[in-house]
Amino acid sequence: MRVRLKTAALNHLDLYVLGGMPGIPIGLPHIGGADGAGVVDAVGADVAGVEIGAEVVFDPGLSCGHCEYCRAGEQSLCVKFGVLGEHSDGSFAESVIVAADSLALRPGHLSWEESAAFGLTYLTAWRMLMTRGGLRPGETILIHGIGGGVSLACLQLAKLSGCRVIVTSRSDEKLKRAGDLGADDVLPSDDQVARSVRGLTDKRGADIVVDSVGDATWMQSLKAAAKGGRIVTCGATSGPNPKEEIRLIFWNQLSIIGSTMGSREDWRRLMAAVTGHHLRPVVDRVFPLAEGRSAYQRLEEAEQFGKIVLSIDG
Ligand code: ZN
Repeated sequence: MRVRLKTAALNHLDLYVLGGMPGIPIGLPHIGGADGAGVVDAVGADVAGVEIGAEVVFDPGLSCGHCEYCRAGEQSLCVKFGVLGEHSDGSFAESVIVAADSLALRPGHLSWEESAAFGLTYLTAWRMLMTRGGLRPGETILIHGIGGGVSLACLQLAKLSGCRVIVTSRSDEKLKRAGDLGADDVLPSDDQVARSVRGLTDKRGADIVVDSVGDATWMQSLKAAAKGGRIVTCGATSGPNPKEEIRLIFWNQLSIIGSTMGSREDWRRLMAAVTGHHLRPVVDRVFPLAEGRSAYQRLEEAEQFGKIVLSIDG
């Protein structure tokens, strides 16, 4: 399928690609971008069920379709798994080619800018919390580093599920905005996070800790988790080799859970939730495609709250 793009959105992944990734050769010139929204303007001869003119978004995961994991419906475990804009040319362009089964109709309650702004992060958050984390209503969730796309999506999905959500940030402004979005408790990011979480939960701790920060937060995650708690990670923006404390893991019977992107089933369930509950991603700022460099710079400075979007068509 070819999608004529109207909007696209940046992810932290785009900065990694820009800087070069160990073990992943990227030929130049390279077009970045995992997320986008647009209109189908060409359909392959063997594709059924997709019409030219359909307004769509897409799952940016790239999978082979025939390895044992793909056959089991676990596309993000595919032995050749990749992401649009990382392992292929991406969505910062007039058009992009994507697999028909990755498409979904654009949710009608969202603007074009919002439509581009939820794919990768919401899908990642959905798999982290729902599929891998086994989130249950009423649980307490700790989310480090609120402000990025995945952390905000986790906040929204956890609140939708009736959970208590505690968030951290180094920025008072981001904590205030997270409170406006429904965070129950906000904490400064420091070495007192675990102590504060215990204080807020009658010494119990958090059932699920979402940690995509890594080095800077990992020890606080281990200390903040309740007995039997789950720590879910999808990344390590501050570094991938934190100090570890194995005694906390076995004594408190913690589960350390990895998660990457999502399966097509995760994508379908996510789209049903976004459409059914009128979920709305937070858009930080919109730049025209021609000012893409400024968009990358804003992401690099980590000043954003929500998604940085590129306007491509008009
Ligand atoms: Zn595969």
